[in-house]
Formats: sequence, structure tokens, C-alpha cells
Amino acid sequence: MNTLTITNPATGERISEVPADDAASVAAKARRARAAQPAWAARPIAERKACIERFREGVVRDLEALATTMTRETGKPIKMSRNELNGLLGRLDFFVGMVEPVTASETVFDEGGMQERIEHVPLGVIGNISAWNYPWFVGCNVIVPALLTGNAVLYKPSEYATLTGLEIERLLREAGVPAEIFATLVGGGEVGAALLEQKIDGLFFTGSYATGARIAKAVGSRFMKLQLELGGKDPTYVCDDADPRAAAESLADGAMYNTGQSCCSVERIYVHEKIHDAFVAAFVETVKGFKAGDPMNEDTYIGAITRAPQLDVLDAQVADAKAKGAVLHTGGHRLPGPGNGYAATVFSQVNHDMELMKEESFGPVIGIQKVSGDQEAVKLMNDTRYGLTAGVYTPDGARAHRILSHVNAGSLYWNCCDRVSPRLPWSGFGDSGIGLTLSTYGIEAFTRPRAWHLRKP
Ligand code: NAD
Repeated sequence: MNTLTITNPATGERISEVPADDAASVAAKARRARAAQPAWAARPIAERKACIERFREGVVRDLEALATTMTRETGKPIKMSRNELNGLLGRLDFFVGMVEPVTASETVFDEGGMQERIEHVPLGVIGNISAWNYPWFVGCNVIVPALLTGNAVLYKPSEYATLTGLEIERLLREAGVPAEIFATLVGGGEVGAALLEQKIDGLFFTGSYATGARIAKAVGSRFMKLQLELGGKDPTYVCDDADPRAAAESLADGAMYNTGQSCCSVERIYVHEKIHDAFVAAFVETVKGFKAGDPMNEDTYIGAITRAPQLDVLDAQVADAKAKGAVLHTGGHRLPGPGNGYAATVFSQVNHDMELMKEESFGPVIGIQKVSGDQEAVKLMNDTRYGLTAGVYTPDGARAHRILSHVNAGSLYWNCCDRVSPRLPWSGFGDSGIGLTLSTYGIEAFTRPRAWHLRKP
């Protein structure tokens, strides 16, 4: 039997060895899901909602143990693991509350004996290949609306968040979701690739651009619904009328929270020349206050880099920035072992010739660039192949609106950053992906609208 070794990235210790899937077991789970899905879709929606409500109760009941599991396998600081689980509850409430209004059949025309209706039917069996950085959020953004709308789900958690994936499965099972309707596929990329070989009706992916592009190619000729939530290089501009200290404190958190491993982490900062020096000083001071260490400690803010190979990416970006003349204010190196530690790193005097300002860092590393005004800031913010989020700090709402309406990004922030809401659609421009999750659109995404033309006799 295949097995998957789970390692704690903060200590390098082996946590456990779990049985893994192979091509044959993936195919068997897909067949069982296909056979079981119509009965699940036929159940009253109240029953599916009740399952998710019981799942929510399980999350609340087991929260501390679930947070510990997530911290041990991903290196996320324990307080942030709790925050993710507590934040999940609002998302579950949103999905449960909105699924009926969003998917109710509508009569859109009724005249002269002719009626036209729209019905929302489930896609069928969907595949979900997921990431490790917010495994509860990104997993449940797909799994929960998919199940509520009557789909079966084949869920491939990241190999770096498998224990969390198995906990999601356990709690859904306890809550009454049948084993055939929600099945976890354990393993790495090869198990994800085996899922793509199955007869599925939709593939929902969260992860890197490189894997997303590979998946799009693999399923391209099969015309299934495909959603790709990928990376970003999210910019923020601090205007000359902003309070440099307040903006610096907010943006330092936006750049370094979850050890910089958020899809919507602030990855580039542009600051108006008039307040640049004050901003940099306040930013560096704030970052120096972030405590790195054991993610299980209550006061740890900088935890572990979950995937060891990312340390090489960070080293390369740091070396490239230094070689091209950037000024290093703090960090710029790995932390002494054991585990994958990286010091919170701040550069100023950066520019777009540097990798640091072009490619996703996905770690606690940030560049701050001086700009002469709004026009230059907009030009630089749009100088990217990505487009997940972008922000502006200024007390002037009209100015923020003017600037942000010219920036190519799926989510726009005024005086805030690194924020996701269940009520708003989550999507990206350019290489940040296609499709969306969250909001009412992110429920509808798991259904197919069917048109009924009804002539009364
Ligand atoms: P990744 O692309 O390395 O892996 C994602 C998933 O794809 C994993 O489950 C992996 O096993 C699977 N996979 C790998 N190769 C595959 C293949 N050939 N076929 C099928 N599946 C395969 O990404 P990651 O390191 O898990 O996640 C980090 C990335 O995710 C970052 O770029 C981050 O920005 C992005 N992300 C985006 C969002 C968003 O909402 N846009 C949210 C979270 C993370």
C-alpha cells in the first residue's frame, strides 16, 4: 500500500505515516461518487443544510485539537490556526443561509399560457484539488457549497495539509455526509493527476500558477467546468496624505501574517516620496517586533515556511535584490534550524528589475518602492501578470476610488489589506486564475442553470 509521510515543517520531525491513494483507489472512489450523487441531490435541501450545521458544531467542539493538527503539519502559528477555524464559522453560516435563495427555481416569464423557468441543478461529481496555506478556508470554499447544492466531492487536500483534510472528512462523515458523496484522496501531485483522469463534471483548483496551467492543459479538451484560484503579486500604494505609521502597521501585518504564505499577502508596497522615509522606518520597527519561533507558542507571529523548497525561492529573491542595489533593513536569511524558518525581511530601494517585485515570494519577504505620485503608482501596480488583490491607503475616499478603478485586480482594498469576506466574490485577473469562490456567485458556481419552456395546454 502507498503511504504518505507527514512532517512538521517547524521541527523536521515525522508526525505520521498515512495510507495514500493510487490510481485504482481514485477510480473506485470516483465510480462510487458517480453512483451515489443523484440520491444525494434528491434529498431535501434541509437535510443537506443540517449536515453542514452539524459539521459546524464539530468544528466548534474540536477547535483546539484541529488548530493543533493544522499548526503541526503546516507550521502556522497556533493563534492563526484558531483564527482560521473561527473565521470558517461565518463562511459556513453564509453558505447555509444563502444556498436556498441562490438556487431556488425562478419563473422569468409567464404570459399567454407560456411560462419560462430557470432551474439550478448540481454539476454532478466535482474534483477539488487544494492548497495547504489556509486548508480549512480554501477547502470549505469549494466543498461546502458543492455539497449543499447536491454535488458529490472528490477532495485532494495538499500533501502538506493531509491530516487537516482527513479531519474535514471525519467531521463531514460524523455530520451525516455519506462516504461516497465526500471522499478524500490522499497523496501528492500524482494523486491529483489521477483525479483528472476520472469522469468528473467540474474541477476546482487552488494552488500555484504552474500547477493550474498543467491542470488546464490536462482537462482542456473535456469541456468540464474549470476554476483555478492561483497566486498573486499583490500591490498596495500608500499616498502622501496617509498616516505613515498606521499604514505601516496595517501593511506589515498584511505582508507577514501566516508567515507571508497567503494568496492575498501584500507582496509589493509603493509609497509616495513625501512620506516614504517615515513609512519605511515605522514598517521596519513593526516587523522587528514580530516574534519568530515555535508555531505552538502563543506569542509566535512568524512560524515555519511550510514547503522546504520555498526557502530556495526566498534566498534567490533576496540575493537578486541585494545584487541589484536594494537596501536590506532586516532579515534576509534563514533562521537556525531545526525546521524551515526564514527571518522577516524588508527591502527598500527596490525596482521592477528585481524578482522580488515580479514573482510571488510566498514568504515573509517584502520590497518597498518609492514613487512620485498616483500615476506612477498605478502603472507599477499594473506591471504584473497577476491580479488577485490591490490596495490604497489614503484618507481621501474619492482619490482611492479613482486610483483603484484603474488597477487590474479581483479584490480592491481601501485602507485595509489581506482580507477575504464570504459575502464578496473571490477571483483574480490574469494569471491569478479563472472563476471564483465565495459570495452568492460562489454558490451558483456549483450549479448549472437549466431552461424550462412550458406551454400550458
Ligand atoms: P501547488 O500548485 O504546489 O499544489 C496545489 C495542489 O495541486 C496540491 O494538492 C498538489 O498535490 C496538487 N498537484 C500538484 N501537481 C499536480 C498535478 N500535476 N495534477 C494535479 N494536481 C497536482 O500549490 P501549493 O503550494 O499547495 O499552494 C500555494 C499556491 O496556492 C500559491 O501560489 C498561492 O498563492 C496559491 N493560493 C491561491 C489562493 C487563491 O484563492 N487564489 C488561495 C490559496 C493559495
